[in-house]
Amino acid sequence: MTAAEAFDATDDLSDAVSPFRYADGRLHADEVPLARIADAVGTPVYVYSASGMRANYRALATALDGLDVTICYAVKANSNLAVIRALAAAGAGADVVSGGEIRRALQAGVPPDRTVFSSVGKTEEELRLAVQAGLCQINVESAAELEMLSTVAVSMGVQARVAIRVNPDVDAGTHDKITTGIRGNKFGIEIEAAPAVYRRAAALPGIAPVGVAVHIGSQLMDLLPFRVAYTMVADLVRHLRSEGLQIDRIDLGGGIGIPYHRDESPADLARYAAIVRETVGDLGCRLFVEPGRLLTGPAGVLLSRVLFVKHGDGRDFVILDAAMNDLLRPAMYDAWHTILPVTEPSAGAALRPFDVVGPVCETADTFAKERLMTAPGDGDLLAFGNAGAYGAVMSSTYNTRPLVPEVLVDGSEFAVVRKRPTFEEMVALEAIPPWLAAAD
Ligand SMILES: *Cc1c(COP(=O)(O)O)cnc(C)c1O
Repeated sequence: MTAAEAFDATDDLSDAVSPFRYADGRLHADEVPLARIADAVGTPVYVYSASGMRANYRALATALDGLDVTICYAVKANSNLAVIRALAAAGAGADVVSGGEIRRALQAGVPPDRTVFSSVGKTEEELRLAVQAGLCQINVESAAELEMLSTVAVSMGVQARVAIRVNPDVDAGTHDKITTGIRGNKFGIEIEAAPAVYRRAAALPGIAPVGVAVHIGSQLMDLLPFRVAYTMVADLVRHLRSEGLQIDRIDLGGGIGIPYHRDESPADLARYAAIVRETVGDLGCRLFVEPGRLLTGPAGVLLSRVLFVKHGDGRDFVILDAAMNDLLRPAMYDAWHTILPVTEPSAGAALRPFDVVGPVCETADTFAKERLMTAPGDGDLLAFGNAGAYGAVMSSTYNTRPLVPEVLVDGSEFAVVRKRPTFEEMVALEAIPPWLAAAD
C-alpha cells in the first residue's frame, strides 16, 4: 500500500464532509493550517472545529425533522464551555451528569428547559441544584433516588418532573466498558420492575413522573439494539398509560457511534430517525435524544509533535509529546484512532509499520501498534482523528504533565478555549502540612 492509497481512505475523517482536510499539502481545521496552531499554542493540543460540530448537529436535527424532539448534547463527551456554547447556539439542549456539568451548561447559556439531568448516583446537593436551576427533567435511576428527590422537591416547594431510566436488558454490541443497558449493569431500573416504581413515584409528594428514559450504551455501530430497546420503551409507555399514569415524554439516550476505522461506515441517521418514528413516533410524547460522541467526536483532533523516532529490536517507535494522559481511549478501550501527518505525504511515499507511543512510564501508553504510516521525522506534526469526544475530558496530569490545552477553530478564526496550565497552576491546590514544612 502506498501513502496515496492509505490516505485517500482516511482523508475524510467522517462521512459528513470532515472539517479536517488537506489543502496546499497541509492539514487544515476549517481554513486554519494545523501547523499554525501548533506554532502558536504548542503541542500537544486538541483542535476542534465549531463548524464541524454544527454540521453534525444539523445532520441529526434534519434526520429527526418533524418529530417533537429536543436534542440534548451529552456534555460529558466534551464539556469545554466554548464547545457547549457553540452547540447551544446551534439549538442544542444539554444532557448533564453532575453538578459541575449543570453549572457548565448554565454558564455556556443552555436554557434550563432544554437540559436533562442523568446520572446513576446523584447527591442531594446535586438534586437541589437541578431543581433550583429549573432543569426540564431529572432522569431517576433508583427507587432510593426517587425518595431523596421527593424530600428535596418538597423542601423547595416544587414538583420535580421525572423520567425513570429503565434497563431494557438489550446488548448494545459495543465495548464492555461502555455497554450500559444489560442486566447486571449499574444503570437504570429493570424494565419489569418499572411499573411498581412509577406507582410509587406517582404517590410521592414533589414528584411528577412524566417520562421514560433509556440509554443502552455508547459507540453503537449497529442500530438494531436501538429498535429493540425503543420498542420495549413504547410498550412500557402504553402499559403505564393503561394504569392511568400521564406519561408524555420519552428520553431515548445517546450512543450513536462514529467510524474510527476506515473499514467502518458512519451511522445512517435517516435509518436511526426511521427507527425512532416507527417505535415511539405515534405516542404523542415529547422526545429527547442525548448524542455526545456523534456531535463532537469527528470535529476534533489531537495534535502532537514527534519527539524522536527510535529504531528498536525489530520494531520502530514513534515517540510523541502526547501521551495516554492526554488521550486515554487507546489505553482504556483499545480504541483505534486515525493518525494523519500534518504535512501531506507525497502520493508514492512508502508506508512502514511503527508503534506510536507517548512518554509516560506505562506500556499502556501506546496509541497504535504496527501502524502503517509514512516514516515521520523528528519534529513532525501528527494528528489523531476523531478525538473531539472523550478526549480532553478524560485527560489527566499523570506524570505531572500539564493538562492538554484546547483550541476552537471556526472558519478562518481560532482561539484557545482552555489554556495549558503553568507548573505553578498545576500545584497551586497542593500543600505541604505544617508539621512537614518546618525547617530543622
Ligand atoms: C454517555 C451518555 C450519553 C452520550 O453517549 P454518546 O455515546 O456519547 O452519544 C447520553 N446519555 C447518557 C445517559 C449517557 O450516560
